[in-house]
Amino acid sequence: MKIEQDKVVQFNYKLSDSAQNTLEESDDKVPMAYLHGHNNLLKGLEAAMEGHEVGDKFSVILEPAEAYGEIRPDAEQRIPVKHLHGAKNWKKGMIGVVQTEQGRRQVTVVKVGKFMVTVDFNHPFAGKTLTFDVDVIDVREATNEELAHGHAHGVGGHHH
Ligand SMILES: [Zn+2]
Repeated sequence: MKIEQDKVVQFNYKLSDSAQNTLEESDDKVPMAYLHGHNNLLKGLEAAMEGHEVGDKFSVILEPAEAYGEIRPDAEQRIPVKHLHGAKNWKKGMIGVVQTEQGRRQVTVVKVGKFMVTVDFNHPFAGKTLTFDVDVIDVREATNEELAHGHAHGVGGHHH
């Protein structure tokens, strides 16, 4: 079965930057699962998945514009430290999560004060050219429920 619109795909991946540093890796025991054609992946990655089958291994390189965008220089903001989630004691360089009107955003801590913290709203992978090494584990038809929700359920997918 080929990957196309409305198929649920399980895959393992390794994400590296242009200097070959591994940034992220899926857990072999719990592959990622997503519903193809519903904007659940980075656009360039989803486009590269199209037409592949179980057992296919391939690599795709995404420029920053196709991945997490260029680094914006004006993305630093001072926020109350209580709005920063993910750790108790913050240090420069740590990644935290902030709830914004656009949803949850990953931010990088720039400076820590007693009540206020300066964070950088650029995504940690902004400005990076990313290489995804993909290993397709499974391709199946989506259920009606998955199509209605617009995402995959079960192993590697949404649980709710
Ligand atoms: Zn759902």
